[in-house]
Amino acid sequence: MSNTSSIEISKKRKPKWLRVKLPTGENYKQVRSLVDDYKLHTICESGHCPNMGECWGAGTATFMILGNTCTRSCGFCNVATGRPLPVDWDEPDRVGRSIKLMKVKHAVITSVDRDDLSDGGSIIWAETINAIRRISPGTTMETLIPDFRGIENQMDRVLEAGPEVISHNMETVRRLTRQVRIQAQYDRSIGVLKYLKDNGAHRTKSGIMLGLGEEVDEVRQSLYDLREANVDVVTLGQYLQPTSNHLPVNNFVEPDVFKQLEEEALKLGFIHVESGPLVRSSYHAEKHIL
Ligand code: SF4
Repeated sequence: MSNTSSIEISKKRKPKWLRVKLPTGENYKQVRSLVDDYKLHTICESGHCPNMGECWGAGTATFMILGNTCTRSCGFCNVATGRPLPVDWDEPDRVGRSIKLMKVKHAVITSVDRDDLSDGGSIIWAETINAIRRISPGTTMETLIPDFRGIENQMDRVLEAGPEVISHNMETVRRLTRQVRIQAQYDRSIGVLKYLKDNGAHRTKSGIMLGLGEEVDEVRQSLYDLREANVDVVTLGQYLQPTSNHLPVNNFVEPDVFKQLEEEALKLGFIHVESGPLVRSSYHAEKHIL
């Protein structure tokens, strides 16, 4: 792969490398019932993640806090947009207790955007990290945070709580950001990642989806921009359209292209790179703390 012609396309049918088995098995069922009993929101479900069977089968899940309604409306995302419910101050403890019950060694926590709250949801973020530390002290964490509109004291609350990994996803290249994440800004997100690293984050991480119409050189530029912000870990995966109301898939990127980008990213100095059609930002997250 050396130019954009190699990311040619099968536009209509999902290629065979993207077909996955439906989730089954005892561990999957146990996680399923805990998620239901504790009224937890997982991004695994709302994001229609193709790896849900694998992750839940291994007894892990990515939790979404601050409710299941987002104040933003990214074109790729299956989370509902609207006016969120009031903050649930019991949520941090409930998440902590579930993680303990599920014996999760490494938890990934993410949230909807809460631009309606004066603290951007950062207090619940910090309380959730602290609750997990208190209730399940052996569990390490990745926190996949919103951009907090770049407000430093909101990011500081997460930094002070000290999760092992702090991630913030770029989702796409600079040119497509307005189309894909309408209320976000490419440079603000890069700035967030840089601020986190400059201010004591142990490990930072970001993710980009491919197949939205980006050129491969634009992906390379984004990888370069992330390294300029000292980001440690990057994930690259295929975008899949959750419903017909979401942005369409422009192209299915060949596995070889992902492999090539992985090699290039490692040469740029990322410590970990997950790159493949089925990769999602939480995929193999437990490896990224090392
Ligand atoms: S901010 Fe996050 S949760 Fe909200 S619509 Fe965008 S991707 Fe989805």
